[in-house]
Amino acid sequence: MDCRDELRFEGPRARKPIALPSELYSFCEEGPFQACSACCRSLGDGGLYQVQKVIRGKEVIFEMAICEACAQGLCCEFSEESLQAIKGFLLSSFKPSPETCHCHFCGFPRPLLSGYTLVGTCSSRFLVVPTILLCDRCGEQLQARISNKTREVQEDFVRSTFPGVPADMDVSPTFGGIL
Ligand SMILES: [Zn+2]
Ligand SMILES: [Zn+2]
Repeated sequence: MDCRDELRFEGPRARKPIALPSELYSFCEEGPFQACSACCRSLGDGGLYQVQKVIRGKEVIFEMAICEACAQGLCCEFSEESLQAIKGFLLSSFKPSPETCHCHFCGFPRPLLSGYTLVGTCSSRFLVVPTILLCDRCGEQLQARISNKTREVQEDFVRSTFPGVPADMDVSPTFGGIL
């Protein structure tokens, strides 16, 4: 089964593409991500990729871009229960908005958040789905719904792709492959 199709939001691709906002640029590369953080494949070929940035205060503490193939590979290792739990969370709580001035799940204003994650689904220099802002509190609620096995898959992925990241840092690519 292709889990991506099942979990994709209705019609995001029908929108006109939006130029990649600078908040989804790589902090390290000081510009758009050039290559997949996992397989190093170039991201300039028009394929989909997902940017995830974890922000604490005003600092970017983690960032990655994963190509569609890597995201899909990761997603398909998730347990069925976890995919259903993530899907349920998104369907019940996600409030779409083109702006990133508040958490898209609880509505808490961005300037008051101590930590949050930005997730962007991109193609070349364009944003395919409006950026999602997930605050730490909603992120914890989401993590609490998924199985230990899926959490291990996420942690293994982060550990093997980013050897320098402390194992206890919660940077799990929860939306890997599902947007
Ligand atoms: Zn890749
Ligand atoms: Zn929230």
